[in-house]
Amino acid sequence: MILECIPYGLFGSNCYIVGDKGEAVVIDPGCDSDNIIEAAKKNNLSIKYIIITHGHIDHLASVEEVRKKTGAEVLIHENDADKLTDPSLNDALGMGLGVACKKADRLLHDGDRLTVGGIDFEIIHTPGHSAGGICIKAENKVFTGDTLFKMGIGRTDLLDGDMETLFNSIRTKLFTLDDGTVVYPGHGEPTTIGAEKRGF
Ligand SMILES: [Zn+2]
Ligand SMILES: [Zn+2]
Repeated sequence: MILECIPYGLFGSNCYIVGDKGEAVVIDPGCDSDNIIEAAKKNNLSIKYIIITHGHIDHLASVEEVRKKTGAEVLIHENDADKLTDPSLNDALGMGLGVACKKADRLLHDGDRLTVGGIDFEIIHTPGHSAGGICIKAENKVFTGDTLFKMGIGRTDLLDGDMETLFNSIRTKLFTLDDGTVVYPGHGEPTTIGAEKRGF
């Protein structure tokens, strides 16, 4: 598996390129689209899907540019579909930075699977930070967006966030994964499920 992280996107978000055998997905394009295209090219990967962990601007700021440059399909959970197209809903911090994207090509649901470059990607619905928040599991890795960070969890004071729902998502959907599963969060450094469980 080829895994590239492009850190320091909008509000310090991480964008990930995950692929193999010439194909890849981009998770959370919140950084300059040129950096994504370059990283894909360097690894001889063509981008098939853009998967958005949730509809906040720091995770989707360059969706349209990446879509235009690659022809990739855009995927988001059904509960966050409106956040993609309505700038007032994806303007996470109320700073007037929201962007209007076109509609998603496909809406995601809990348990959906995609195969790209021979890698099986599983969608895990983890609402709480955002109603349509998802984590994406691939092999022994999980991309957690703003649901779970190294030594922290996502904030729940935005729009449709809810603390109890977030705790429940983390306990029942993430802490049931193997302790050795490596967590790649939407902001900050990687960690593991085991380390986060111990510190919870
Ligand atoms: Zn967020
Ligand atoms: Zn974020």
